[in-house]
Order: sequence, then C-alpha cells, then structure tokens
Amino acid sequence: MSNYNPYEEVLRTLDMAAEMLGLSDDDYIQLKYPEREVKVSLPVKMDDGSIRVFEGYRVQHSGVRGPYKGGIRYHQNVDMDEIKALAMMMSLKCAVVDVPYGGGKGGVTVDATRLSTSEMERLTRRFATRLYPVIGPHIDIPAPDVNTNGEVMAWFMDTFSTLSGQLSPGVVTGKPVPVGGSVGRRDATGCGIMLMVREIAKKLNLNLKGARVAVQGAGNVGGTAATFLQREGCKILGLSDVSGAIYSEDGLDIEGVITFLRAKRGRTLADYSAPDVTRISNDELLSLNVDILIPAALENTITGKTAPGIKAKIIVEGANGPTTSEGDSILQQNGVTVVPDILANAGGVAVSYFEWIQNIQGVKWDEEKINERLENLMVKAFNDVWNTAQEAKTSLRMGAYMLAVDRIVTASKLRGIAY
Ligand code: GLU
Repeated sequence: MSNYNPYEEVLRTLDMAAEMLGLSDDDYIQLKYPEREVKVSLPVKMDDGSIRVFEGYRVQHSGVRGPYKGGIRYHQNVDMDEIKALAMMMSLKCAVVDVPYGGGKGGVTVDATRLSTSEMERLTRRFATRLYPVIGPHIDIPAPDVNTNGEVMAWFMDTFSTLSGQLSPGVVTGKPVPVGGSVGRRDATGCGIMLMVREIAKKLNLNLKGARVAVQGAGNVGGTAATFLQREGCKILGLSDVSGAIYSEDGLDIEGVITFLRAKRGRTLADYSAPDVTRISNDELLSLNVDILIPAALENTITGKTAPGIKAKIIVEGANGPTTSEGDSILQQNGVTVVPDILANAGGVAVSYFEWIQNIQGVKWDEEKINERLENLMVKAFNDVWNTAQEAKTSLRMGAYMLAVDRIVTASKLRGIAY
C-alpha cells in the first residue's frame, strides 16, 4: 500500500482502545504526541576515504512509566514516521508486560548490508555521540533491533562511557555477555514467541507436537523462534528472509539452516540448498497451509492484499507492526487468532530489563533465573491480555492495547503531569 503510514496505523488502534476503555480525549491525548523527536546527521568516513552523511533518529514517546526504552534499527526504509510508530509501540509493550519503562525507538536510514564492519562501527560511534545529550541509564536506554546486534551495542556503550568518563553498561541492553550483557538476552525475543505460541495453543487446544508452522524472517527473532518451536515438536515448513523463502513439506532442518546463515555475514537463504527443499516467494510463504504463522520481519506484511490468502488459524507477531488495520479486520472476519506484537515479541525487552537491573546493581544472574523470570513474566502478561480481551469481548490485540493504555493513563494521572 503506497499510502501506508505506520504512525497513523498505531494511532487508529490506540483510539479504538481508548474508546473501549471509555476514556475521554483529555485522558490520553498526550499519548498521541511523542515527548521528544530527535533527528541527527551522521557524517561517516567510508572505507574508500569518502565522507557520507546518514540520517539518524531517536524518538522518546512516553516517559510516564520509566526511562524511555527501545531498540535502534539500521535500515534503508527508516524515517521519522516509522520510528515514531515503533516508539509508541514500545511504550505500549513495556506497559503490557509491566516492566518499569516508557517507550522509545531509534534508527538510521542506511542499507546495513552494504556497510563493512568498520563502517558500521564508525556510524554507531557517531550516532552514540550525537545522542549523548539525550540518553543515559536512567533517561533513555537503547537496544538491538533490525540489523543491529550485541557488537553494535558494545560500540555504543563504549562511546557513551568514554564521553561520560565512567563505565556505563546500563546505557544500552543487548550487549555481549563479557561487557555487561545478560545470559539469555540474545534468544529472549524468540524464546518469548515460543512461550506465546505454547500459551495460545493451550487455549485453542492445538497440540504443538507436529503442528505446522511458517516463519517470515530468519534473523534474531524469526530464526530463534523457529529453532525454539522446532524443539517443542513443531514442524517448520517454511522460512524466509530478504532473498525469498524456502519450503519443505516434511519440515526444514532449522538448526542446520540457522547455523548455515550465521556462519558468514551476508549469507542469505538464496545460498542454502538441501534435498527436498524448494524455493517459494514471500507471498507464497504467507499463504502456506499451516496451523501457525509467525511474521517476524518488518511492518506492513499482512495487508488487505495478503490477509485473504492466509490459511493459518493462529498468528503470533514476532515483528513490530506486521499487520495493517485493513489486514487485521480481514483476519478477524476469517476467525484467525492473532497474538499481537506488543505482547508476542516482548520477551526481548523483558530480558533487557533483567540485564539493566544487573547492570545498575552490579550483580550477575544465571541462565536458570533469567529463563524462569522470563517465563513467569510472559505467561502473566498473556493471561492479563487474554482476560482483558475476554471481559471486553474483543480481540487479543485490542485487549493488549486496552491493558497498556490503562496502565499508562493511570500512571500519568498519578504523576499529575497531564493537568
Ligand atoms: N528492539 C526490541 C523490541 O522491539 C527490543 C527493545 C529493547 O530491548 O529495548 O522490542
């Protein structure tokens, strides 16, 4: 859809949730406006000696419930509207899983696949320098997102610490473990998605052993979710990335595929081959005959155009904003149950919270403790959303939005900043 505007999409759902909660405009109008929008220019010396200037953004949507929290993405389609939408989703997400954060998001408009590792490092250090005045362990805490990872977070943290003159591991989360990262953080989003698949399958009486699954996206979210789901006994029939998708009627060897992809930077599914594996298009992947579909790539994939072809009865949104409002109404008409992004992919920010607690307290938790706390937090959030939706006789998306908006508005009234 050419006139697709991610920010307006989120506003539409926000308005519906506020109406269902019986809120007046005054109660929640401030949520429609990010508290701060920062746009920066990033001159970077490229490997060939030339200078290029990239555009970077950081949007701090709501600080009502705590410091701003949210990832940084490097992608050619990044613009202010996208980052505003994603920042608002982070405020909602943190409220749904009840971690004491507000919402923020950042990004740089750049095709990260075309940057060398050292160009990526210089870009990241410049971005951290430009954002220095507005971020900090108790102000705004970035994390990885599309095309960024632990290595990028380590550079970011190092630059911030150098500028501030003190080691500040709590300024970003998703760091590698040796520099203050948490065990379990890298796999947390994918693990959370598996937990949400498990909970919704229980409610709908679907046996996960042998359940047929398609996953759109083979990165840290999609690839990890597919791996965890296969361990639960699911059959992953299809998996996609930027190069297209692969399909196997008997189920793909996910561990093998992911190991292959991660072995070398720049590898895609187009480079992968195995007996009984065929290539299909991204649209074909979405309409595979499966029980569960996991969109774990970018926004705007389940639309008025693609939604009618979807055969899965359960969708668990690994990506942020994969479904447009038009796509969503079609899914509802067709009786598809959607576990919405702000709940489904919240495992990442949940373990970010655990990482940050360890950083500011100077303690270390083991994997068992992280996994147990992640599971408790996600299952509680799932039940909160499920119950809200049941009581209001509405979808899980609306239930999640109602829960989140109510929590943010309550905090805002208590702080009294709205009046
Ligand atoms: N980028 C992730 C998200 O969209 C993680 C954010 C975080 O950990 O702060 O939820």
